[in-house]
Amino acid sequence: MKPAPFTHHRPETIEEALELLEELEDAELMAGNQSLGIVMANRLATPDHLVDLNGIDDLAYIEESEDEVRIGAMTTHRTLERSERLAERLPMLPDAAGQIAGPAVRNQGTVGGSLGEADPAGNYPAALLALDGSITLHSLEGTRSIPVSEFFIAYMFTDLREEELIESVSVPTEPFPPERTGMAFVELKRAAQTFPTVSAATSVRVDDPTADEPVIEDARIALANAADIPLRVEDAESVLEGAPLSEDGLAEVAEIVSGSVTPEGEMHADREYKEEVAGEYAKRSIKQAYDDAVAASDS
Ligand SMILES: Cc1cc2nc3c(=O)[nH]c(=O)nc-3n(C[C@H](O)[C@H](O)[C@H](O)COP(=O)(O)OP(=O)(O)OC[C@H]3O[C@@H](n4cnc5c(N)ncnc54)[C@H](O)[C@@H]3O)c2cc1C
Repeated sequence: MKPAPFTHHRPETIEEALELLEELEDAELMAGNQSLGIVMANRLATPDHLVDLNGIDDLAYIEESEDEVRIGAMTTHRTLERSERLAERLPMLPDAAGQIAGPAVRNQGTVGGSLGEADPAGNYPAALLALDGSITLHSLEGTRSIPVSEFFIAYMFTDLREEELIESVSVPTEPFPPERTGMAFVELKRAAQTFPTVSAATSVRVDDPTADEPVIEDARIALANAADIPLRVEDAESVLEGAPLSEDGLAEVAEIVSGSVTPEGEMHADREYKEEVAGEYAKRSIKQAYDDAVAASDS
């Protein structure tokens, strides 16, 4: 099928895009068009106007300051995957980006498109939840920043208003000093070109990576495709905090995670299976993140 007819608009500034959103009836933003294109081709969305963000250079960047890393909404998965600075400072993001689909999708798909799509199986929502990220939204009224934990409200439904666009995401560096932090994004996937069955994102900060048994000071665990929205499991985090990682701790975490998720069953993975896999993948991500944190002092 082909999309229903629409008018294409290509603004060159954020301001122009926002004016179009305000003026036009039934307008949809377009970023990499990797998801929107499929939805429109199947006529599941038939907007009268497309506001194409690809002409706005100001939306594609990775910026670092002492306190945070900020990534523009039009930054592609490929750029994140290949960023050496992110690999050093926030390795979760290149890791999550590199596991999205194949190169064609990664070359075009964007951070803002992924958050705007709000698929509960998406990689960035869970990764950014485990990194304490925030999203900056822009309208003609100005900008507002919202924690990722408050942005996703219900299945594929967010706090984004009709007249707003996602401008950037930011991640604070204070909770995650690279020399004492490990991060991991692991997923179970049937094939490269599908969304994962379940993914787990974990950040772990230890007190002293050179100690015989480094103690976990802070842990964030988030799951994708395990509920209607990306899910942080704080009860599991508290089990880990204040002690070195242990097999008993991991087993307890897996049980808590399996009992906390509320996944939809799919053709190849029923609900019970996904609950079990969520616990197992949470364990794997924690183990990998802890090992990375302990190895961090060597690099
Ligand atoms: C075969 C295939 C496999 C995939 N596998 C995965 C996977 O494993 N993990 C994963 O995370 N993703 C996966 N994806 C999705 C991929 O990451 C998409 O690129 C992404 O979800 C959409 O990004 P986009 O830039 O193409 O956005 P578009 O398709 O252009 O837009 C998607 C939605 O976001 C809105 N939007 C876009 N930009 C903004 C903005 N700045 N502000 C507000 N709203 C905006 C649009 O209006 C639209 O509703 C897959 C996609 C395909 C086609």
